[in-house]
Amino acid sequence: MDQGTLVVAIKRCTTVRDLETIQAYMIRTNFTQDSFLLSKLIESYAITLPIRQIAHAYKLFSWTHQPNLFMWNTIIRGYSINDSSSLKAIALYKDMHLSGISSNSFTFGFVLKACCNLPRLEEGKMLHSQVLKMGLDYETHVVNGLIKLYTTCGRVDEAHDLFDEMPERDLVSWSTMVSGYVQNGCSNEALVLFKQMQAQNVKADEFTLASVVGACGDMGALDLGKWVHSYIDKEGIDIDIVLGTSLVDMYSKCGSLDNAIRVFEGMSKRDVMAWSTMIGGCAIHGFGEKALKVFHAMKSANVRPNSVTFTSVLCACSHSGLVEEGRQYFNSMSLEYGITPQIEHYGCMVDLFCRAGLVLRAHKFIQKMPIKPNAVLWRTLLGACKTHGYKELSESITREVLELEPHSAENYVLVSNVYASLGRWSSVSKVRSQMKHKKAKKQHGWSSIEMGFVVHQFVMGDELHPEIRQIYPMLDQMAKKLKQEGHVATTIDVLHDIDEEEKEHALGFHSERLAIAYGLLRLSKDSPIRIVKNLRVCADCHSVIKLISSVYKRDIIVRDRIRFHHFREGKCSCNDYW
Ligand code: ZN
Ligand code: ZN
Repeated sequence: MDQGTLVVAIKRCTTVRDLETIQAYMIRTNFTQDSFLLSKLIESYAITLPIRQIAHAYKLFSWTHQPNLFMWNTIIRGYSINDSSSLKAIALYKDMHLSGISSNSFTFGFVLKACCNLPRLEEGKMLHSQVLKMGLDYETHVVNGLIKLYTTCGRVDEAHDLFDEMPERDLVSWSTMVSGYVQNGCSNEALVLFKQMQAQNVKADEFTLASVVGACGDMGALDLGKWVHSYIDKEGIDIDIVLGTSLVDMYSKCGSLDNAIRVFEGMSKRDVMAWSTMIGGCAIHGFGEKALKVFHAMKSANVRPNSVTFTSVLCACSHSGLVEEGRQYFNSMSLEYGITPQIEHYGCMVDLFCRAGLVLRAHKFIQKMPIKPNAVLWRTLLGACKTHGYKELSESITREVLELEPHSAENYVLVSNVYASLGRWSSVSKVRSQMKHKKAKKQHGWSSIEMGFVVHQFVMGDELHPEIRQIYPMLDQMAKKLKQEGHVATTIDVLHDIDEEEKEHALGFHSERLAIAYGLLRLSKDSPIRIVKNLRVCADCHSVIKLISSVYKRDIIVRDRIRFHHFREGKCSCNDYW
């Protein structure tokens, strides 16, 4: 056999055995010095065999006297395929560098992938500077690898700078940047970029579309989400389980449960994730009975519920006040399905009792839990103590919470609110100084509203929005109207020990009110105002929005961190439990 025949033979191998036979033949016939054949053998072991044999490949590689660039690239690539072997890929790259072989753009592609898998920012940065040194920063696939690395490591700004400066972008560049934004919680940026992508006529693939659908859900961008859905239909893209489930999720998060149900019912196959997403969708809208109906349909379809399903089911019971049903489902988890309840399931139960006003039962439940309660559970109970007036219990829980999570700003806010409601201002200021001292970080609240495919995001006391000069007078007008209707602000949710007027002022500027004011200004009279907020809506804003819905005769739909609130004619769908 000559070299050419052997190459063909190697390519045809499907098992280690086949390859070993050829290797033995090469040894007998003195082909072992043929570096081209050797490199093909290494490639077969490391990459092309149906069941890859990286250890075999490495053995062969290390026996090779002076591996060439192709061999180095192949072995690095082989190790970069799995997360668990990626460290070895990076180490090999360093060896290669030391041995004086200079890398090419393929090498960077493979080793950057290894850095993403782990992920390793420091090594990635070193690679970046080598890429620049070698002038490879015009190679699209190398820059794509760098963008992926930076987004994976949470450095979206660096990634975006690279993306901006690219002389040529391919579909991978766009899709990596869009999904990178989504993964880093920058959903709005992802949507803006997706629109640019459309403007430049770049056809999106399924992967990008799934990311965009997710971003629309996060931002509550219903119009854009609908547009993406019709784009998917128009392009004839197959709606598989993953894309279908993300559409169901998007529609329910955007407040359009009807559409979510329509997509769900149109899916030809549904797995446990698809069912659980639908149940969860009904739950956040407060349709507990409907959620349980879907759950029973799931069981009839012989799909076995998992722990995620039960989180949705219990959440449904909790939002609809179905205490006994919730308790039964909770018990059935371990008895019927052998699923050990996790902390989130216990959390749902505590939530269920608390919403129903059964504060002492919730407290007992926490005390009897077989696993250690976390701060979230205690916070839920603390919130219920406040609502239902259990002042003494709340003080003892306060200590538990601070002990468990000394660095969370949320706790300090909650705790100082407890003290504030008791009128103990000296304790409030003590907690505040502790908070400053421990540098607890408070998550910043924002609210968004979609208008003509653009998502407008507001923060408290916003001054950056281009139309802010029209928005504040609108807020003043709203405040006047509300006062005429006899609204008095509930100020206990405000952290600071400041005088009443200032408190009221701060409340008036909560981000959701800016978004609602903007909606009243710009949306036509008959269209509902849809708001998404990243935190829980405060008690005062909740009662204000109820009032706005009747004074301005508008439907207002707010999705906060916990659930949906449909405000209409002065009432909210959550019945004031949220
Ligand atoms: Zn508020
Ligand atoms: Zn509500």
